[in-house]
Amino acid sequence: MSYNENLQAIEDKISEAAKKSGRDVADVHLVAVTKTVDIVAMEKLYNLGIRHFGENRAEVFTEKVEAFADKPDIVWHFIGSLQTRKVRAILPYTHFLHSLDRKSLADEIEKRATQKVACFLQVNISEEETKHGFSAEEAIAFVKAQNYERIEIVGLMTMAPNTDDEQTLHHVFQGLKAVQLEIEKLGIPNVPCHELSMGMTNDFEVAIEEGATFIRVGRALVEEN
Ligand SMILES: *Cc1c(COP(=O)(O)O)cnc(C)c1O
Repeated sequence: MSYNENLQAIEDKISEAAKKSGRDVADVHLVAVTKTVDIVAMEKLYNLGIRHFGENRAEVFTEKVEAFADKPDIVWHFIGSLQTRKVRAILPYTHFLHSLDRKSLADEIEKRATQKVACFLQVNISEEETKHGFSAEEAIAFVKAQNYERIEIVGLMTMAPNTDDEQTLHHVFQGLKAVQLEIEKLGIPNVPCHELSMGMTNDFEVAIEEGATFIRVGRALVEEN
């Protein structure tokens, strides 16, 4: 399949999942995860109308941002685990950071940022040892205790376990939604927390049914099969 066909197939699935759950497709933003492809491939995606791009490594992220400096309508998402010492390099280009997974990272962002940075708190709903992020309880405690000026918590992000068991996936995404609603309700300044970044190639339809507003899709878009 070509990128065009891949994109069509994904958009059809997004529409279907939105319809099934009575949601507006306009509320679901597709972030193209381009960590496995080069700039030429990204240009093709751009020409198909993709404007949200997600990368997970700081060096590659900044290289790609620089390569697309002539396309200011791109929205850049940093989705990977971020070392504190790399914060300074990526901040000027990051429209959304999906992987705010610890307080020390937030402290560094607050120190380095010159303007507000839109961040998702990464929450480890499935509590797998290998996954980064706050537990649900830690996330709530964190937003209550913080008073950053330059960090805006726009929402929550999670990675579901690698499984085809739909029930497990529904359960994880419902769990993130529940924490999102709880935090949103607190009405904390700089913590609007309206958004949900959840759903990847394996599980984005379930994530949409459970309220995802940003899905992060790599393989389904860029794999030629
Ligand atoms: C790679 C990656 C994705 C995309 O995963 P696919 O299975 O290729 O769709 C989404 N989110 C994060 C954080 C990733 O690292």
